Amino acid sequence: MSATIDLGGRVCIVTGGGRGLGAAYARALHAAGARVMIADILDDEGAALAAELDSAARDGAGDADATARYHHLDVRDEDQWATVIADTVAAFGAVDVLVNNAGIVNAAPVEHLTTAKWDAVIAVNLTGVFFGCRAVVPQMKAQFAATGTGGSIINISSVEGMRGSPGLHGYTASKFGVRGLSQSMAVELGPSGIRVNSVHPGFIRSDMSARIDPARLDIPLGRPGEPGDVAGTIVFLASDASAFTTGAEFVVDGGMITGIPHK
Ligand code: NAD
Repeated sequence: MSATIDLGGRVCIVTGGGRGLGAAYARALHAAGARVMIADILDDEGAALAAELDSAARDGAGDADATARYHHLDVRDEDQWATVIADTVAAFGAVDVLVNNAGIVNAAPVEHLTTAKWDAVIAVNLTGVFFGCRAVVPQMKAQFAATGTGGSIINISSVEGMRGSPGLHGYTASKFGVRGLSQSMAVELGPSGIRVNSVHPGFIRSDMSARIDPARLDIPLGRPGEPGDVAGTIVFLASDASAFTTGAEFVVDGGMITGIPHK
């Protein structure tokens, strides 16, 4: 058996795909043979990545054959979600995989955490994931009924969805929420051929994590993560190699939360 995963034209939407981990997921899915819709509020970055991936793949074919596209999406906007799903189906004929990756972080001691900060992080990280799932499920159900091919929803949580973290109350609550939402949907949607799993990255170098010094962290594998370190798990969950996997939690952190910190 080959260790290489071939996604064979499977259609994947990656939110927050314009930079950071989301861009690494879009690259890896595309490299594995998927057709990718990059969705973000970073229009320049997202469009540039789609153009780069597409030109690398098709070498002069017409736009109708595009293998990567960009769509503006603010995950907090229900109407934009409906448009992205419809336009992805119009462009590629299906939605097989949704990677709910878009996220923000803010920090404050709990007594100084403003309602505005709390609402902001819950709106993107949790309600945005819910909106995406709610928007894509009818399409995935219809595809399963018509073709027997199921869908895969991959929700990006965090190690902060597995444990408490001082100063990160809204973020931690949002990421625990994503974990719970993934499990309740996995149970409900299994009979409809839709798998739902959560992924929990540890410290991964990106704009979001730039203010944290990885030297302060105890990472058993001995180094901070790079965006590409999580991408293999995403490709696996997008593929039939994970066909019997749903409601599962994938911690990708170099072993960081497995150990007991010593004083
Ligand atoms: P990042 O800040 O580099 O990228 C986040 C992306 O989400 C950006 O492209 C941004 O434009 C997009 N985004 C933000 N708000 C949006 C909105 N309202 N609508 C659409 N897109 C929006 O961060 P990252 O480190 O690449 O994080 C990606 C995901 O991984 C997040 O959900 C984050 O919580 C999670 N994560 C990151 C780490 C880490 O160490 N970097 C660890 C665990 C989990």
